[in-house]
Amino acid sequence: MQVFHTLYGKISAIFLILLLLLGIVLIMVSVKSSMNFVRESDQALNRNLAQELAKEFRPFLTDSLDYGGIEHTIHELMVMNPRVEIYLLDDTGKILAFFAEPQQVKLNYVDLEKVRTFLDQKTTLPILGDDPKHEVRKKHFSAARIKIGKNIDGFLYVILGGQQYDSASDMIKESYIIRTTAITLGVALIFAAFVGLISFALLTKRFNRMTEIVKKFEHGEFDERIAIHSDDEVAQLASAFNQMADTIVANMDELRRNDQLRRELIANVSHDLRSPLASMQGYLETILMKESSLSPEKRSKYFKTILENTSSLTKLVDELFELSKFDAKQTQPNPEPFSLSELTQDVVMKYQPEADSRNVRLNASLPKDLPMVKADIAMIERVLSNLIDNALRYTPADGVVHIDLRRQEDKVHVVVSDTGRGIPKGELPRIFERFYRVEKSRGRNSGGSGLGLAIASKIVELHDNTLSVESELGKGTSFSFEMEVL
Ligand code: ADP
Repeated sequence: MQVFHTLYGKISAIFLILLLLLGIVLIMVSVKSSMNFVRESDQALNRNLAQELAKEFRPFLTDSLDYGGIEHTIHELMVMNPRVEIYLLDDTGKILAFFAEPQQVKLNYVDLEKVRTFLDQKTTLPILGDDPKHEVRKKHFSAARIKIGKNIDGFLYVILGGQQYDSASDMIKESYIIRTTAITLGVALIFAAFVGLISFALLTKRFNRMTEIVKKFEHGEFDERIAIHSDDEVAQLASAFNQMADTIVANMDELRRNDQLRRELIANVSHDLRSPLASMQGYLETILMKESSLSPEKRSKYFKTILENTSSLTKLVDELFELSKFDAKQTQPNPEPFSLSELTQDVVMKYQPEADSRNVRLNASLPKDLPMVKADIAMIERVLSNLIDNALRYTPADGVVHIDLRRQEDKVHVVVSDTGRGIPKGELPRIFERFYRVEKSRGRNSGGSGLGLAIASKIVELHDNTLSVESELGKGTSFSFEMEVL
């Protein structure tokens, strides 16, 4: 059956079986206790019944046993009270007289221990004794001592209830209370089953909804998420799925972006390699073709251009190699204490000739009491060089490039600012990407490879800081980062 393969089917089946077992146990227990209650009250009410009935038998027992008289009396009494069965026992428990078809009486003896316990009146009721009409069945009874003849002590043994209530089903049929209890129990169980099945249906409906969304996700519909209305285990599972889905989608976006970047990188690298190579090839072909007619000045100019191209190619390949080592985490900073003021001073001095040639004022404010910092000197020098190199490159003549070092709490704040052309707002988020250049014509005259800022920001990141940029078009740009003081 298909329904039993579903979680709903399985839970419901187990629940209904348990409910059924519970119902059976409850009915058995309540019938049993009701039967005991009925027996107890019946026995308590009729405690002296045997005593009363014994009076009727005395005339037939004074000298010897008058069986005819006794059986007649038993018969009469049983007609008057059909609920009782009367037996006359001797002092060994042997049944001496009764009124019934002989084959109906299966026992010859009745266990007197229970009879004596009953007569002692010490034990709580009900006390169940042998039912002579049945080999093993026990019944509640009343009993009284009775003299048979002169010497024999006998007992009048009265089974109460007769053949009524022999079985639980009889009892249920007969007893209004038990019948009502059984019906109430039945209704309660049916109600519980109904409520249970509806609850399971609602619960598994949530699972079905989750499965639906997981399947959609599997088939590429990544947008849908499971609605969460509570914080139970199912909701926690749903929330875990939602989070997992978000992570997968984010990772996929990242992969897609990386793939896009890789394509762009290959395109950019090939472009940046092709241009200088083509130029070099052109110049070399010209030199070869016009070898004899070429003036020494022209020849040396061509060779100079070829040399420039080879060095820019070398720079490009070096920078690419450097970035790939950062990506592969092969390059790790080697931190050591040093004076950032001194390092900045050195870099400024290195770029001073270039600044002079561009007619740009390059200066730095370096407080004397600036504390030492701990970082990789070569890397930080690279950052400063890249930033100053850019600043000089993108600042027109008569502009200023200024480096400002300032202590801010336990950090040294470094700012490289210029009064250059600035960067449009829309471009700012992308300038740290490799090969990204604001001027889309990738001519090498107007700038470098587009890797300088990518390398600088990577290095600052490796020192647990961020390289930030602020820029206003036509007014200037400032790059800043922080270094922990020692
Ligand atoms: P490049 O080698 O082309 O300078 P970078 O990664 O160093 O590459 O810089 C990326 C781009 O950011 C540059 O092409 C330039 O457009 C812009 N840029 C960087 N620094 C400045 C600056 N100080 N002023 C204006 N634009 C800048």
